[in-house]
Amino acid sequence: MPERLVAIVGAGAAGLAAAWSAVRCGARVRLCDAGVGASGLGGGAVDDRPWECLMRAGELLGVTPLCRALPEAVRSFAAALGLWHLPEAGCPLVRLATDAGRVRPARGRDRALLDPGELPAGAAIVLPRVLRPEWDADGLARALGDDEFLRSRGVRCVPAQAELLLRTAEERIAAADLAARHDEPARLDWLGQRLEEVVARARVRGGRADALLLGPWLGARAPRAEILRERVGLPVGEILAGVGGAAGLRFEAAREGLLGALGIELERARVLAVEPAPGALRLELADADPFVADAVVLAVGGLAAGGIRYTPPEQVAAAHEEPVARAPFALSLRAPVELRALGRRLEVVSSLSGPALDEIAWPRGPDPGLLEAVGVACTGSCCAPGIYAAGDVVADRPRTLLRAVASGIEAGEAAAQWPSP
Ligand SMILES: Cc1cc2nc3c(=O)[nH]c(=O)nc-3n(C[C@H](O)[C@H](O)[C@H](O)COP(=O)(O)OP(=O)(O)OC[C@H]3O[C@@H](n4cnc5c(N)ncnc54)[C@H](O)[C@@H]3O)c2cc1C
Repeated sequence: MPERLVAIVGAGAAGLAAAWSAVRCGARVRLCDAGVGASGLGGGAVDDRPWECLMRAGELLGVTPLCRALPEAVRSFAAALGLWHLPEAGCPLVRLATDAGRVRPARGRDRALLDPGELPAGAAIVLPRVLRPEWDADGLARALGDDEFLRSRGVRCVPAQAELLLRTAEERIAAADLAARHDEPARLDWLGQRLEEVVARARVRGGRADALLLGPWLGARAPRAEILRERVGLPVGEILAGVGGAAGLRFEAAREGLLGALGIELERARVLAVEPAPGALRLELADADPFVADAVVLAVGGLAAGGIRYTPPEQVAAAHEEPVARAPFALSLRAPVELRALGRRLEVVSSLSGPALDEIAWPRGPDPGLLEAVGVACTGSCCAPGIYAAGDVVADRPRTLLRAVASGIEAGEAAAQWPSP
């Protein structure tokens, strides 16, 4: 069979997994991406299900949920990416200390993050005091010390004096820039020395230091925590920070490495349309020549990535036009696919003045809310002949990294085989 060309639109976790799987199935891949998406904004938690559901289920049933098995292909993809630690099925879930001062469960983690669940009962986590806007070692130590998970294990959080900033103005640069400085071996070595001093001081007069928790500063090109762990002789890792930190940069660097290994170039291009052409699909690009492909994977993300746009009627209605009720969301490109949310056509959730967002947009109990549900209607991963969808752009599926990867693998494989089963 001649080599098929699969076009993938979007290079987040879903698009990357689709590219990896299409290449494994013998296809040639063109990968187009317009900018940063949710995968490049994450803090380093890697979930298969929304963690709030996991907590609720655990509380309801009175059990501690354990890691569920992951499909073998997801494990192989994660190994090829080389960024995440994903415990085996049946192991305790990873625990992550958040910058809100709580500990939450996750299926896995970026390898730079600390897992307080790995520490023995009675352990002391040391938080070095660093003068930075995103870091309040004393406040965090107090809040984390109050967290039920840590309290139940007698794990304490202790702030400690430290000198971890080296150059002028490092208290003011972005956290991601500080993380990038620790990509330099000499600077990482310097940090290791400072952390050894912190531990030595904490252990004076029989004090304990069993782990070090830091801000999101441990590498932008790769997770550097394991090098520090070896150097200092105890677990060292980052807190789970909010949007736009070093973990997102590490995802992008790992993506670059994987695409290089697969021989795929990431084309920085916005796709404007995917249209049926005789025996193929035609992709129209902004500022670049169109091309045809045998099959297409839409992995353009949800509202956060701009893959889905909020377009309520009043946003476009000119004063002289009659108001029209129409779907209040649109895909970021023209394609012969249908959008749905909460199992319904979009027109149903709207009115002449758009949807009543304060009633239906936000999550309520197990209901994810309209904004998390809106996406492309699919059967399996197929949304139109030769067109597949994966990740956050798919309607009514939980939006997590591992779901994006699993659906990307499925879509990449199906696209590589289209039109055969
Ligand atoms: C704030 C936030 C926090 C999150 N926290 C977690 C968490 O703790 N744990 C977890 O597991 N998951 C979390 N998620 C969800 C997780 O990040 C997503 O489910 C996952 O990254 C989705 O991957 P994706 O590839 O589908 O989309 P994205 O990563 O969003 O990628 C879509 C890509 O498509 C590109 N694109 C869009 N339109 C076009 C076009 N027309 N042409 C070309 N390119 C286009 C975008 O620029 C983007 O790069 C979080 C999401 C957000 C927004």
